[in-house]
Amino acid sequence: MTTQTAIRIDGKATALAVREDVAARVARLKDLGVFPGLTVVLVGEDPASQVYVRNKDKAASGAGFVVDTKKLSEKTTQAELLAVIRSLNEDAKVHGILVQLPLPKGLDEGEVVRAISPAKDVDGLHPENVAALVMGGDGLVPCTPAGCIELCDRYGIDLKGKRAVVVGRSMLVGKPIAQLLLARHATVTIAHSRTVDLKAVCLEADVIVAAVGVAKLVKGDWIKPGAVVLDVGINRGEDGKLVGDVDFAAASENAGYITPVPGGVGPMTIAMLLGNTATAAARIAGVEA
Ligand code: NDP
Repeated sequence: MTTQTAIRIDGKATALAVREDVAARVARLKDLGVFPGLTVVLVGEDPASQVYVRNKDKAASGAGFVVDTKKLSEKTTQAELLAVIRSLNEDAKVHGILVQLPLPKGLDEGEVVRAISPAKDVDGLHPENVAALVMGGDGLVPCTPAGCIELCDRYGIDLKGKRAVVVGRSMLVGKPIAQLLLARHATVTIAHSRTVDLKAVCLEADVIVAAVGVAKLVKGDWIKPGAVVLDVGINRGEDGKLVGDVDFAAASENAGYITPVPGGVGPMTIAMLLGNTATAAARIAGVEA
């Protein structure tokens, strides 16, 4: 019987280190006369979105960005929202535009994302950035998937030649993380709700990314001994506490590395958003930072 105890990947500490690196890049940009600006657009009163936006605002200000949050009413029309985005696209002081999703019912998210200038699309969701990811171009990469790769890099986990299984195929997480793993020369399987015998598929994985939204879906005995387990899921457990898509305690006995929830992938998302904003500002200004 193996009772391997996994190395717990500390997303909080890693995110802090990334944020310090970004702050240094922002300072270099300022020395070059570029004052990187991030504008977050929040439509409506969704409480979770308000918390996310507050956290982004705080983190970005802390790293030295010029931050502006545009709060728009629940009743904002599609045309009004598109006009706001057009004006931000044209504003030279704004280098990153983030529209907090989900948008209130009745607004067309796809059209809104497509309206953002790809150069300022720090969420990496514009079709031009998605195409760059698939085609190996130099676009802006979605933040949570980029955070998963950054965690591997900072823990010295080599992905080349590894068998990776991504559970979940969303545009926000599953598909982009699969592309990033492929770009690192992993052999990638994408599983989803119609996958037959998910346990058997997961047991083949040297690297598992769980991005599903079902608490503790991935069981301890689905993990190959020594595997790297990256848990993207954020769910509320029966006790009201946050819990991931992986049964953390049981999986820790088999995994080589594992991210906890909270404190794993989650904190990396904002850190990578800040990194994207610094990258966008440097590219728009045509400087290195
Ligand atoms: P989506 O709901 O968009 O996608 C979920 C995916 O999981 C779908 O592809 C779905 O398959 C698949 N799925 C659902 N049930 C099962 C099942 N029983 N077995 C296998 N696959 C299943 O979610 P997101 O990708 O947006 O988010 C996933 C999780 O990550 C959520 O918990 C979310 O809160 C969290 N998240 C965390 C972030 C962070 O910062 N850490 C950022 C973004 C998301 P199908 O396509 O067949 O329906």
